[in-house]
Amino acid sequence: MQLKLDHVGIVVHDLDRAIATYEAALGVQCERELLPERHLEVAFFAAGESRIELITPTSPESAVSRFLEKRGEGLHHLAYEVDDIAAALERARQAGLRLIDQEARPGAHGAVVAFVHPASLHGVLTEFVQKVHPH
Ligand code: ZN
Repeated sequence: MQLKLDHVGIVVHDLDRAIATYEAALGVQCERELLPERHLEVAFFAAGESRIELITPTSPESAVSRFLEKRGEGLHHLAYEVDDIAAALERARQAGLRLIDQEARPGAHGAVVAFVHPASLHGVLTEFVQKVHPH
């Protein structure tokens, strides 16, 4: 299985302010994306081969909203790109990990994603991402 660090997720209270801060501080360019089915708005900027994802909830129903209330802003998850997300989930299941998503679901940029519970990976919420590559 090919594994590559795709992005690091950071939860923020105010996406506009976070984008302004990161763009000013690091000279990066952020790209925003709404994820209505997950009640999130995100913004990505490139960092070498990987990206940083700034995340803010758009509704109190979002799990990220509860995270913000309990833990405040900060590091939220690591995302690994895999070439076969079904195989990655099966491997995680076999290894006894607690899966948040039993199956892959739609993520940002048309990719499919699935999350593994942080309790199973030493405190780190972990996301698998399988990209759709244009034909
Ligand atoms: Zn992510």
